[in-house]
Formats: sequence, structure tokens, C-alpha cells
Amino acid sequence: MKICVLVKEVPDAAVEKRMDPNTKRLDRSGEKNLNPFDTHAIEAAMQIKEGGAVDVDEIVAVTMGPESAVRALHKAVSLGADRSVHLTDPSLENSDVVATGYALAQVLKQESPDLVLLGQQSDDGECYTIGAVVADNLGMPSLTQVIKMDVESGALRCERQAEYGYDTVEVQMPAVISVGDAINEPRYPSLKAIMGAKKKQLDTKTAADAQIESGKVGSDGSKTQVLAINPPPEKQAGEIIEDEDTDETVQRIVAWLEERKLLA
Ligand SMILES: Cc1cc2nc3c(=O)[nH]c(=O)nc-3n(C[C@H](O)[C@H](O)[C@H](O)COP(=O)(O)OP(=O)(O)OC[C@H]3O[C@@H](n4cnc5c(N)ncnc54)[C@H](O)[C@@H]3O)c2cc1C
Repeated sequence: MKICVLVKEVPDAAVEKRMDPNTKRLDRSGEKNLNPFDTHAIEAAMQIKEGGAVDVDEIVAVTMGPESAVRALHKAVSLGADRSVHLTDPSLENSDVVATGYALAQVLKQESPDLVLLGQQSDDGECYTIGAVVADNLGMPSLTQVIKMDVESGALRCERQAEYGYDTVEVQMPAVISVGDAINEPRYPSLKAIMGAKKKQLDTKTAADAQIESGKVGSDGSKTQVLAINPPPEKQAGEIIEDEDTDETVQRIVAWLEERKLLA
């Protein structure tokens, strides 16, 4: 079995999110890191490999991004991926979600994985949608918010977190699964793994290598247009109840919640 894990380089969590008023896009400059949500996908792949229920031949980390994105691949390899693929090409710049998902799917087609894993969201774009777009392009079933996954003879039995509780769903492989961050506790890379990551196979692909049609990526291939950006409303100061009578305090809190229709 072969598992591909999609990983993305994002601005480090410590960097304040800023929008570029000229391009109306996220300013992605500054310190960068592997998207923390993707470490859960790598860990899920490692647990399948180490679980022994199926033989995992290899785990391949795949990214689309500028030159600097190799660092995210090195981190993915230090966390357990066997090798990595970097799709990078100036023509891919300014791709929106549909274009990004199409481009990643083109690389995945060349890898023919049995399972594609990805994080629930990127820490920068937070679209939560790449999994569905990739699956659509590959013609594979897709599940989101998976927080438990067992491999059973060519199929996956998954639990997915829903607003009302949990769904238990079985899908045939090959499949595209985006994992929720409650699925596991990602491991830390060992010093040896960090040192060895740069020596592992890394294939760099251009858009032409991945047979990506130029009209489907980049600004021209992106149908989304950001028309305006607005800062979020300022947070209002909270209400502090300074009250020593427990009953009255509870009543005031319940009244506050009811007023906002927050109690079922
Ligand atoms: C008009 C427009 C132009 C844009 N231009 C750019 C641009 O130039 N550069 C840019 O970075 N973004 C750009 N974006 C944002 C870009 O579309 C999103 O970053 C991208 O589609 C992924 O969405 P997301 O990051 O919110 O992914 P989500 O759907 O939130 O991410 C889910 C998971 O998908 C995987 N994933 C997401 N992106 C990648 C990737 N690139 N490689 C591998 N795995 C991935 C990760 O596993 C991640 O956890 C643009 C958006 C618009 C609307």
C-alpha cells in the first residue's frame, strides 16, 4: 500500500496574519513552517504503517509551493515520510483552491496512491476544501474531519466528527481522507531524523512534468476573484460578573446565554 500525504508550508503561527491590500491576498512573507494540521496526517500515515494491519510500502509527502516549501517537505520526512515530491513552477503562482486542487491531483495521478491523507485545514488559507477538490479530480471518495481510521482489506472504516456527534463510514480505497486534529498526537522528530531528512529522495516537478494544463492554474486559471477585504469587527469587552452569591451568578450567566440563544 502506498500513502501520499499532502503538506503545505505556511507562515509560522507566531507571525501575525496580514492581508496585502494591493493583491488582496494573504501576505505570506516572514518565518514559515510546516502547516501544523498536516503533522496529524503524517502521524496517521505512520500509525497505519506501524500498526501492521496492512503493509505500507512507502509514505510520500507532496507539496505545491515556492522554492522555500522544501523545508516543509524536510520536516514531513523527519516525521516519517520516506520521500517527497515538490511541485513548483512560476505558472502555479496565484492559483485559487480549484486550481491548487487540480494541480495537486495531477501529481498524485503520477504517484497512484492507495490513500491520500491531508490536514483538515491550512493554517493560512483555512479553506478546508482542498481534500474535496483533489478527490473530485481523482474520481476518489473523500471524507473530512476523520478522527479514527482503521484499514480493513482494501477499505477504510472511519469515524468522522460531525456537529451532532460521530459518523462511522466505510470507504473503498483508493480514497482521499482529511483528518481532524483530534485524530492523534503527532510525534516529535528525532535529531537523527532531522539530520537525515535532507538525504531522502526529493523529486522536484514543474507544471509540465505533472502534465498540468496552463489554462487551469495561476491567475488566468483561477475563477475566484477577491473583490474586497475587510478587517474583522473589533472584539467587544467581555462582561465580568463580580458576585459572590453562586445562585445569582448562575442565573445571570444562564440569562446571558439565553438572551443570545446559546442554550438548547
Ligand atoms: C484568487 C486567489 C489567489 C490565490 N493565490 C495564492 C498564491 O499565490 N499562493 C498561495 O499559497 N495561495 C494562494 N491562494 C490561496 C490558495 O488558493 C489556497 O492556499 C489553496 O487553495 C489551499 O487552500 P487552503 O490553504 O485554505 O487549504 P485547505 O483546504 O484549508 O487545506 C487543507 C489541506 O490541504 C493540503 N494543502 C493545501 N494546500 C496545499 C498545497 N499547496 N500543497 C500541498 N498540500 C496542500 C494540506 O494538507 C492542508 O492541511 C489564492 C486564493 C485565491 C482565492
